[in-house]
Amino acid sequence: MFCKYCGKQIDDEGGSFCPYCGKHLLENCPPAGSPAQPPPYPAPRYNLQDLPNGGWTVLGFFFPLVGFILYLVWQTTFPIRSKLCGKGALIGVIAEVVLVVLYIIVIFVIIAAASASYRYGQP
Ligand SMILES: [Zn+2]
Repeated sequence: MFCKYCGKQIDDEGGSFCPYCGKHLLENCPPAGSPAQPPPYPAPRYNLQDLPNGGWTVLGFFFPLVGFILYLVWQTTFPIRSKLCGKGALIGVIAEVVLVVLYIIVIFVIIAAASASYRYGQP
């Protein structure tokens, strides 16, 4: 067989280490020259229950106050959940503000239209 690291021919019975480069021959490593493997994903520091779940965003959207409280409570224990809740709460608050603004605009338009028609309706 040939060493997959240095390419030298080695006796199959020579052992599990290459006598030329000293690499372990049975190790399942990428061949030499291939790009270095990305560093392993950092070990999870948080709870395994802290998995991404769109439900938390939906909860935060419909109950922004609950989402915001959960965001603060879970910030350290469940960072992923906390972020999803916070995102949902933020979207929910923005959506509600937009709805309120639209509602006010609609009321103003109705009042303006009503007063205009009242004025023009006068003889
Ligand atoms: Zn070798």
